Amino acid sequence: MASIIDGKAFAATLRTHLARRIAALRHDENITPALAVVLVGEDPASQVYVRNKAAQTVEVGMRSIEHKLPASTTQEALLELVAALNADAEVDGILVQLPLPDHIDADRVLEAIDPAKDVDGFHPLNAGRLATGGTGLVPCTPLGALMLLKDRLGSLSGLHAVVVGRSNIVGKPMAQLLLREDCTVTIVHSRSRDAAALCRQADILVAAVGRPRMIGADWIKPGATVIDVGINRIALDAGRTKLVGDVDFDVVAPLAAHITPVPGGVGPMTIACLLHNTLTAACRRRGVELPN
Ligand code: NAD
Repeated sequence: MASIIDGKAFAATLRTHLARRIAALRHDENITPALAVVLVGEDPASQVYVRNKAAQTVEVGMRSIEHKLPASTTQEALLELVAALNADAEVDGILVQLPLPDHIDADRVLEAIDPAKDVDGFHPLNAGRLATGGTGLVPCTPLGALMLLKDRLGSLSGLHAVVVGRSNIVGKPMAQLLLREDCTVTIVHSRSRDAAALCRQADILVAAVGRPRMIGADWIKPGATVIDVGINRIALDAGRTKLVGDVDFDVVAPLAAHITPVPGGVGPMTIACLLHNTLTAACRRRGVELPN
């Protein structure tokens, strides 16, 4: 039976450590990092995320600046706000919550964010730096997944990692991060032939698909480490719902060596890594050393 990778506990430890480092930064340099979060529209899930991000930002001792705009906001007005946040010397991180309403070109907005303040790591310059080995800001969810892997396995060098999913926010940056750790990396996606056979070769399997319990026992090499990024809400009886991952936990856990649960695995790491990125951005752009 696999041992459980407790992302909730790991994220709490990471936040405690961040709080100490932020206090040191305030004490030594008189700097309080600030994160600006922009929410356009009323999407209920986005509202919950933004509320949680703001609360955790304040909890670790940083400033949270929230901009809530109506769904009718024009692209021009949003770009103006991003430009103002770019120009504001007190703002260290800018996050525009996705998804944006259909009339707004999300790529244009993400590309307008100053790459030095791009704490989501979605700007093409930061994606390029990740791919070319430079120092940029790395997308939070794959960064969190990597932290869990390194904490559990130590060196990942030479291991075969299979990433299922090739989105710009999870799959692709996850593959780049694993490549940077000297893994042999395979990306499996919706057009891959015999995805299960490819996954059975994985020492590390990362699932980022968005299909409830798609990955079953016949996708797993015994002894593999399984990281489940998927968050899927499924209907139960009597109108009740439940969160499940992309991995069929009950059948995969007996085969794997280590596995993340859903919820409580990768999910809690995302905001913790957002805070981590905000501290990193604050120190880099202000030219001060990151506190230990
Ligand atoms: P996405 O829809 O952008 O990408 C899904 C990817 O899965 C695509 O690249 C596609 O090629 C691949 N795919 C689809 N069907 C497939 C199949 N049958 N076989 C193999 N590959 C297939 O999704 P995303 O934004 O990358 O998110 C993936 C999952 O991770 C979702 O469940 C999402 O909710 C979750 N997620 C969690 C966090 C977090 O933990 N905080 C953050 C982001 C996303």
